[in-house]
Amino acid sequence: MKVRVGINGYGTIGKRVACAVAAQDDMELIGVTKTRPSYEARLASAEGHPLYVAQQEQAAAFEKDGLKVEGTLEDLLSRVDIIVDATPGGVGEIYKDLYEKAGVKAIFQGGEEHGLAGVSFNAYANYKEAWGAKFARVVSCNTTGLVRTLFPLDKIIGIEKVSATIVRRGADPGDSKGSALNSLEPSLKLPTHHGPDVQTIMPWIGITTMAVKTPTTLMHMHCIIADLKKETKERDVLDVWNNVPRVRMVSGKHGIRGTANIMDYAKDLNRKRGDFMEIAVWQDGVRVVGNTLYYYQAVHQESDVVPENIDCIRAMMKLEPDAMRSIQKTDKSLGIGK
Ligand code: NAD
Repeated sequence: MKVRVGINGYGTIGKRVACAVAAQDDMELIGVTKTRPSYEARLASAEGHPLYVAQQEQAAAFEKDGLKVEGTLEDLLSRVDIIVDATPGGVGEIYKDLYEKAGVKAIFQGGEEHGLAGVSFNAYANYKEAWGAKFARVVSCNTTGLVRTLFPLDKIIGIEKVSATIVRRGADPGDSKGSALNSLEPSLKLPTHHGPDVQTIMPWIGITTMAVKTPTTLMHMHCIIADLKKETKERDVLDVWNNVPRVRMVSGKHGIRGTANIMDYAKDLNRKRGDFMEIAVWQDGVRVVGNTLYYYQAVHQESDVVPENIDCIRAMMKLEPDAMRSIQKTDKSLGIGK
């Protein structure tokens, strides 16, 4: 029998996870919640995703706009085995009791604290930690990006310590309240939270981070310096990442000079919504000097966590004991790696 999945919060992340769930043969998308009859609500309806409202009083506006509502969040919870909470950061916390009372497992996103779920998740690094769990949190886009390249590097070569600068997109493309138009804004709370967030998955790793907010919407860029445990050649580092699903090498020599080219490439690959779910590492930007590795990677913040949510559902619902098999199944269904 397929696992019944609901999505609470159909925004940037929620709408992508909804489509990804609908693409799995071991899951069924039962419905998604919206608070207003926005274009995204119409899109959900057009995609065949049953619409629910977060609160009963919101239903009238949908019906006035000709959108069929199947019920409230409580109704949705009574029909699912697991809910993916993709509400804005800090809102998921308010819903935890409701999920618990309904006897439904829940996945929270990176805008929530680690303590809310007790398990922070990345499919490649700690799939087994979410096995059968009642609650888990798929870490943020930046943390997912850092763990995707650092975990395999640490496993195969060994990392002494990491220092990274996160050059952050100011807002998502659809968000009109972004960062200042003509300004680079350093994060003054140092070191930033990104390092400790990586440690929720790799508690043994020494990592410190800084961040700068920039007036771009497309992707984040990470500038990473890692002290390795042994002298290593660039070829060895590239070999590690070439064997990691969801890390994809790009090259300046082939015309990928920046994040705009990656987004263009994703469209040319016919990726849904123009998403690029892999972490893009510039192979000609990888340098090793002695034991020190330098590299750049780009993170498509709107989509890199989507396949992680799918694998997290599989682990929590005990659908597939083998992490790599789940990853391969998810990637095949979403066209990742092609
Ligand atoms: P978003 O604002 O795009 O979408 C949130 C959705 O939740 C909207 O549709 C909104 O209408 C709905 N919502 C608001 N309040 C609600 C409520 N009380 N009940 C039900 N629904 C409600 O947000 P997002 O960018 O998709 O972020 C969702 C989560 O994913 C956050 O924890 C965020 O930190 C995390 N995340 C975001 C990104 C990103 O770059 N956008 C990347 C990775 C993780």
